Amino acid sequence: MGGDRLSREYIPAALAFSRPSGELSLRRQRLRLHKEIPLMLTLRQARRLETVPAVDVLVAGGGPAGFSAGFAAARLGAKTLIVEQCNCLGGIATAGEHAHICLYSAWASARRVVGGPIWEAAGRVAETGYGVRTNGDADFEIEGLKLALDRLAEECGVGVLYYSFVADTVVEDGRVVGVVVQSKDGRRFFPAARVVDATGDGDVYARGGAPFDVGDEETGLCQPMTLMFTVGGVNYAALKAWRTSYQMREVWAEAQRNGDMRPFQDQVMGFWWTPTRPDHLGINFTHITRADATRAEDLTRATIEGRRQAQECIPVFRKYVRGMEKCFLIHTAPLIGTREGRRLRGVCRLSRADVVGQRRFADAIGFGSFFIDIHATQGPGMEDKTWRPEAGFCYQIPYGVTVPESLDGLLAAGRCVSCDHEALGSLRVMPQCGVLGHAAGVAAVLSLRDGVQPRAVDIAALQAELRRQGGIVSDTDVTA
Ligand SMILES: Cc1cc2nc3c(=O)[nH]c(=O)nc-3n(C[C@H](O)[C@H](O)[C@H](O)COP(=O)(O)OP(=O)(O)OC[C@H]3O[C@@H](n4cnc5c(N)ncnc54)[C@H](O)[C@@H]3O)c2cc1C
Repeated sequence: MGGDRLSREYIPAALAFSRPSGELSLRRQRLRLHKEIPLMLTLRQARRLETVPAVDVLVAGGGPAGFSAGFAAARLGAKTLIVEQCNCLGGIATAGEHAHICLYSAWASARRVVGGPIWEAAGRVAETGYGVRTNGDADFEIEGLKLALDRLAEECGVGVLYYSFVADTVVEDGRVVGVVVQSKDGRRFFPAARVVDATGDGDVYARGGAPFDVGDEETGLCQPMTLMFTVGGVNYAALKAWRTSYQMREVWAEAQRNGDMRPFQDQVMGFWWTPTRPDHLGINFTHITRADATRAEDLTRATIEGRRQAQECIPVFRKYVRGMEKCFLIHTAPLIGTREGRRLRGVCRLSRADVVGQRRFADAIGFGSFFIDIHATQGPGMEDKTWRPEAGFCYQIPYGVTVPESLDGLLAAGRCVSCDHEALGSLRVMPQCGVLGHAAGVAAVLSLRDGVQPRAVDIAALQAELRRQGGIVSDTDVTA
C-alpha cells in the first residue's frame, strides 16, 4: 500500500488523459454503468460526524432543477438549503457555460407553456441588461445569470452553500433523513426532513439505495458529453450572412478532408449569441462519447479531451469561417456538460410514447415541448432515435417521475428523474428541469405540512401552489 508508484487502479485514468475519446469497449462501459453500490449511512453512523442544524428541505445541486426547488420551498416558508459543488447556481447554464435556455413555448410556436422560477430567472437577467428572453427561449451573459440567481436566492431566503459536495445519503427505516457533505470543513452531517436530489446524476438517491437506470436500453450508453467554450472577436453578423446552414456541415467536412480537424464532430450544435455581448459566441461543438458521468476518471478524461477539441477549433474557425478570422478562445467551461446520467425508477416513468403521444396526466406539474434530441452515443452527429414534432407539440410531465418507487423522504428533480432514454432526450432541457424542480420544492414542503411522504402529496394542493407561484400546469393555464 502507499509507496512511490501509481496504484493499478489509477493507471487507466492517467493513460486516459492522452487517449482519444471512444476507446472504451462497450462491454466495459456497460459493466461500469450498472455496477453501483449504495454507500448509505445510518443515522447513528452519521451522528458521529459533526452535525449542522437541521433544515426542512435540503436541495442537493443548484442547477435549473435545484434552484427552482430551493426558491419554491423557501417561498413557502420552509427552512431550505441548496448545497452546490461549484461556486454559483445555474448548473449547466452557468458553470457549464450553456448560455441558452429553450424551450419555454410549445414546439415551433409562441404559446408559452412553462413558468415558475426558470422563467423568472431568465426574466431577471433580461431586466438587468444581461440578455434577452422571448416566449420561446433565453440567451444571456453567464455572469448576468449568476448575479440574478444569487440575488433571487437572497430574496427568497434560501440558504446556499457553495464548494460543498453531497457525498453520502443518510437513511433510517427506508427514509432519507439527511446527507453527508464533504467540503473544506471535512465531512459533516446535514439533517433534513426532506431532500431533493437535483444533482443531475441522482447521486443522492443512488447512495440511498433507490433503483435507477442508466443509458440507452439497448446499448447501455449515455449521450455524449460536451465541454462548452466561449470565443471572442467574432463578427456574428458577417458569419450569419455567410453561412448556408446553422450546422455548417460542409465547412467541417472540408476542414477534416484537409487534415485540419479531427472528426470528433460534424455539425454545430449551438453558436449561442446575445446582443448584450455581440462579439462573443458560446460554442456547443465538442463531443466526447462513452464517458460515465458518475466516475471522476471519465469526467477528467472527457474534460481534457473537450479542452483539446476546443483549442483545436480556434485555427479551424479562423481559417474556414467568415466572421471568425480573428476569433480567440476566452475560456472553456469549469463544469463539463453532461447530457445523461442516472434515471430514477419512480412511481411513474415517462416514456417516448408518452412524449410523442402528447399525453396528459392527472398529476401533471407542467409541460415539456422540446424535440427528442439524442446526440450520437458512438460517433459524431445525432442518433436515428431523434424525433422532431409538428408545430404546437407539448406533453404533460407527471409528478410521479420525481418520486422514488420505494425510498421515502426524497424527491428527484431535473435530468435524473424517472423516464426512458428517449423521453429524456426531450425532458432534459432546462425549462423542463425547472418545472421538475419547482414541483419537487413545493411537494417537499406540502408533504411536511400534511405529515405525509412525498408519494402521498395532495395533487390538487400541489397544482394550486404551482399555479400561485407562476407555474403553468394544464392547458387552461396557457394564456400566451
Ligand atoms: C452541451 C449541452 C447542451 C445543452 N443544450 C441545451 C439547450 O439548448 N437548451 C436547454 O434548455 N437545455 C440544454 N441542455 C440541457 C440542460 O442544460 C441540462 O439537462 C440541465 O441543465 C439539467 O438541469 P439539472 O438541474 O437537472 O442539472 P445540472 O444543470 O447538471 O445541475 C446540477 C447541479 O448539481 C451540482 N452537483 C452535481 N452533483 C453534486 C453533488 N453530489 N453535490 C453537490 N452538487 C452537485 C452540479 O455542480 C450542478 O450545478 C444542454 C446540456 C448540455 C450538456
